[in-house]
Amino acid sequence: EELEEESAARSNFIEVLGHELRTPLTPILVSSGILNEMPSSQKSDMVGKLSSSIYRSSRVLAQRLEELLDLGRYSRGTFQLSLQPINLNVYFEEVSSRLSPLITKPGQKLIIEIASPLPEASIDSSLLEQVVINLISNAGKYSPEKSTISFKVKIAGPDLLIEVQDDGIGISEEEQARLFKPYHRAEQDRQKYPGIGLGLAICKQIIEAHGGKIWVTSELGKGSTFSFSLPY
Ligand code: ADP
Repeated sequence: EELEEESAARSNFIEVLGHELRTPLTPILVSSGILNEMPSSQKSDMVGKLSSSIYRSSRVLAQRLEELLDLGRYSRGTFQLSLQPINLNVYFEEVSSRLSPLITKPGQKLIIEIASPLPEASIDSSLLEQVVINLISNAGKYSPEKSTISFKVKIAGPDLLIEVQDDGIGISEEEQARLFKPYHRAEQDRQKYPGIGLGLAICKQIIEAHGGKIWVTSELGKGSTFSFSLPY
């Protein structure tokens, strides 16, 4: 039964992936085609618009491919953490300063709360940042305009606790159990939001490799809180 479920998820994934790779490819092809055909006297007006469309779509494509490659690497267990001791206050201040461009819908607000002082800990700083970026991007993507997203870092006993909370579309209890598996996307979101269902699976691999845990609490229609803890 598990194999069947896995195989069904995989087929669905391939379909979604095909769609996701084709969608950004279309504007790249159309825009670069127009640029190519355009007489050089007319080029200046349109160049800005078309080249930014090409740039945006290529970035989406590159990100999807990166997710695919990451998943391959992580599920084969061929990635290694590069742990470095770091002052967590300095680290999270730096990471926070790069988060606001990820919140893109009009009126969405990002609130950041970082407890101080935090201890020093050994982490893989770029992989952990990838987890935070993923959770914040999802919070923005699955929330409406004019909503609030919060990013909190605190101490909870022997653990560091990081929470990303949104007041977006939420996730049913049944779906919550599956979201951290590769390829799974909540049924109701598949058509409406871009994505291939690998981000959370990758986050889980990274957090577990640090000896931590990742989980979600959510109510459909009310919002979600994705949390992870790291023993320091
Ligand atoms: P993707 O966003 O590319 O589909 P993820 O692995 O990051 O892949 O997320 C898996 C699924 O979890 C999403 O398709 C969505 O259904 C659900 N999800 C993730 N984050 C949120 C959130 N903040 N609010 C509601 N649903 C979410």
